[in-house]
Amino acid sequence: MKHNFGAGPCILPQAVFKQASEAVLDFNGLSILEVSHRHKDFVAVMDEAIDLTKKVLGVPDGYSVLFLQGGATLGFTITALNMMREHKRAAYINTGTWSSGAIREAGKVGIEVLEIASSQDRNFSYIPKGIVCPDDVDYLHFTSNNTIAGTQFHDFPKAKHLVCDMSSDIFSKEINVADFDLIYAGAQKNLGPAGATLYIVKDEVLGKSTSQFMPTYMDLKKQADKGSMLNTPPVFSVYTAMLNLKDLQAHGGVKEKQKQNDAKAALLYQEIDSNPLFEGTVAKEDRSKMNVTFKLTDESLKEEFDKNWKSADIVGLPGHRSVGGYRASLYNALEIDSVRVLVEVMKEFARVKA
Ligand SMILES: *Cc1c(COP(=O)(O)O)cnc(C)c1O
Repeated sequence: MKHNFGAGPCILPQAVFKQASEAVLDFNGLSILEVSHRHKDFVAVMDEAIDLTKKVLGVPDGYSVLFLQGGATLGFTITALNMMREHKRAAYINTGTWSSGAIREAGKVGIEVLEIASSQDRNFSYIPKGIVCPDDVDYLHFTSNNTIAGTQFHDFPKAKHLVCDMSSDIFSKEINVADFDLIYAGAQKNLGPAGATLYIVKDEVLGKSTSQFMPTYMDLKKQADKGSMLNTPPVFSVYTAMLNLKDLQAHGGVKEKQKQNDAKAALLYQEIDSNPLFEGTVAKEDRSKMNVTFKLTDESLKEEFDKNWKSADIVGLPGHRSVGGYRASLYNALEIDSVRVLVEVMKEFARVKA
């Protein structure tokens, strides 16, 4: 078995892979891949995925949960279109590649973007602090975990209408959904296979867009009215996400996961900080517990170190091309034993080089 530190699509529990594969062959006598999404058996799956999301995250009354397509990338557009109000202006916090994408796409549908804070000056290696949202904007958008740079908001900004791309840390820890108007997340970082995108939206905000160009598919009100079935949903992705949520619930929910994720991150950062061959690439107080970015203090050792972790059956460790170095993604399903294997490779490398 390989230790998959890849940034996405994500590792999922082995039991989930097994159950999902079984349903490809037999889902009540059909394959999950051929069953009609209108059939009561699949409608029950969608209902359960929605219900589990609400239970696991503690989604309060007055919110709708949707599973749509298009990834978080289409989410950039969908959120801008649905949150547009009289100002047609929104505040964005720019903490990396994905925030920059959200900013770009909001501009394309007619939002005037105020970039009220940015960490671009230091290659997105920190989270801007002391952020105050102006009053004359329709909403504030931020990215809770920066998958590529390896930073994470440990305190969320405050705003009257808060919107968040939580693609890479949703379900990794407890959150207060009531603080948000809209949360969205591509499934493939911590929830399930690529294909589904999760939206958690306050019912109050549905149907209030001032955009004149709202494609039917992107109208969250229309999607909510149709229970995410305005067209064919990503059936297999929703099914597998449902299995994963069930597994998460059975293993103590996000509260328990948060403890495990804290322990995994602490173990790896402790090694990065104490091992003279490695250093972290972002501000310590803003380090992500999902995507740990680090590099060698001596780049000439790269080839040798790469050989070592590869021979320990580790995969997915190279950093994103915009950052370089290494990135260890510690998503929910990654066991602490995999982190121990990586830490041992790092320790052994230091012993050999000492
Ligand atoms: C991966 C990622 C995206 C892009 O997701 P797609 O589903 O591929 O469009 C957006 N935001 C964040 C934070 C991500 O990690």
